[in-house]
Amino acid sequence: MRSTIEATASLTDGSTLRHERLFIGGAWVEPEDGGLMESIDPSQGRPWAVVAYGGSRDVAKAVDAARSALEGPWGRMPGHERAALMRRFADLYRERARALAVLETRDSGRALRESLADVSGHATAYHWWASLADKHAGRTIPIDDSVHAFTTRVPVGVVGAITPWNVPLMAASWKLGPALAAGCTVVLKPAEHTPVASLELGRLFEEAGFPPGVVNVVPGFGKDGAGEHLVAHPGVDKIAFTGEGATAQAILRAGGDTMKRFTFELGGKSPHIIFADADLEQALNAATNSAWTLCGQSCALGSRVLVQRPVYDRVVEEFVRRAGRVRVGPPLDEATHMGPQAHGEQLAKTLSYIDIGRAEGAELVAGGHRLTGPEHAAGYFVEPTVFANVSNGMRIAREEIFGPVAALIPFDDEEEAVALANDSSYGLTAGLWTGDVGRAHRVAARIRAGMVWVNTYRFIRWSTPYGGFKGSGWGRENGVEALDSYLETRTTVISTTGRFPDAYAR
Ligand code: NDP
Repeated sequence: MRSTIEATASLTDGSTLRHERLFIGGAWVEPEDGGLMESIDPSQGRPWAVVAYGGSRDVAKAVDAARSALEGPWGRMPGHERAALMRRFADLYRERARALAVLETRDSGRALRESLADVSGHATAYHWWASLADKHAGRTIPIDDSVHAFTTRVPVGVVGAITPWNVPLMAASWKLGPALAAGCTVVLKPAEHTPVASLELGRLFEEAGFPPGVVNVVPGFGKDGAGEHLVAHPGVDKIAFTGEGATAQAILRAGGDTMKRFTFELGGKSPHIIFADADLEQALNAATNSAWTLCGQSCALGSRVLVQRPVYDRVVEEFVRRAGRVRVGPPLDEATHMGPQAHGEQLAKTLSYIDIGRAEGAELVAGGHRLTGPEHAAGYFVEPTVFANVSNGMRIAREEIFGPVAALIPFDDEEEAVALANDSSYGLTAGLWTGDVGRAHRVAARIRAGMVWVNTYRFIRWSTPYGGFKGSGWGRENGVEALDSYLETRTTVISTTGRFPDAYAR
């Protein structure tokens, strides 16, 4: 079969891309009890690709392949050799980054300028993970000279990686990187709306020379589909999931029966706090960008903008002015800032929250509508939207909208800012802008979130642990902390004497 990446040049000519096989056990195989599904280009509202999806037998086959690789060549391979393979994959990824970004943009509608900036960094991330593949050493535990006690870090086993539709390649890299560095094997199930770029990863693993079964890619449906089968399968040792909290709870219930390990990277309603003593221009650059980037479809975005009263009116004014400068349009056009919502249900969800905001009495000061002009009408485009005079009790301030909707909330002082920031069921990320270094430390230390940015926003790297407090998740992705979650610790105690007293001797 011709590589999809090689066919990228023809991706924009209106023909349908066909990716009719699953990547299982190092081979491209037809689904046994899955089938073919269409992937919709959200900027056009019509299918652009036909993609294979897996059923329960396909998932079982992929898990078996992953198990065989774990117990076979991959499990026996020294860390430095795994690292070398990962580096080869990373180099191929770098070569093909643009083509991968185009695939992601076609599937998700994310503006290509954003996909390119993001995907171009993944190769560096994979290299970083490769550098850790031979470094998970255990430790020696001093007791006395009658025993030698030490720990060994061993891979958790077969990982089911379940990824969302907003950032399919980034979410995959956050799971594949540490999983492979730890020596695990993986069955990757991308979201039904965005399967194409993830399937293409299979091609890169194949080309890099990974042993069959180390990485398997099985697109499919979550509920009643490949996702659920993966979670229920007793041969899967860990589920690494990014998505919605309610899905995580369902996964926890289903996967609990087989005592799997879990990491959950869930939603957010991040506070982005602007104090009156901040460099306002920089704060506005960050706050407006983090309201509309990815068309609002990222868990880390500062969707609650908390603004100190002396600068509140100015911030509202600037949000409105800058909303008017956002170029919303065809995502493949590199001049476009913001593409469409990734699928029709997400568009409906965003529009319904805009109605909710109005009904709750928030003041709609910019946007608020689906775009219906000639280049927008067929797609799922929505205007960058700003609500002013939002109170933190409103649903638009409490629930994750996942659309380009900023809620601007005024506050008086530091105490109130901290209280508002923490008054959320989420605790993923937070940002604060101030010119006072003491305040920066004081406030950052009191915020209940997994990541706090001071005078910057959304600075995320492979090496910086990322994950949530409270309803935003379990565990961390990125950083050495992520590697830990793909490893078990085995403690070995060896007697230096070989003597063991008879407890029942007289
Ligand atoms: P989901 O949590 O439903 O989807 C995430 C992934 O889980 C997808 O691959 C999905 O498959 C799969 N999945 C769904 N149900 C199950 C299940 N029972 N067992 C195993 N896997 C399952 O998120 P949605 O796509 O429905 O998005 C809904 C909302 O979630 C968004 O509006 C947003 O608020 C939030 N979200 C948050 C993300 C984040 O980065 N934290 C990312 C995406 C969404 P399938 O695609 O077939 O549904």
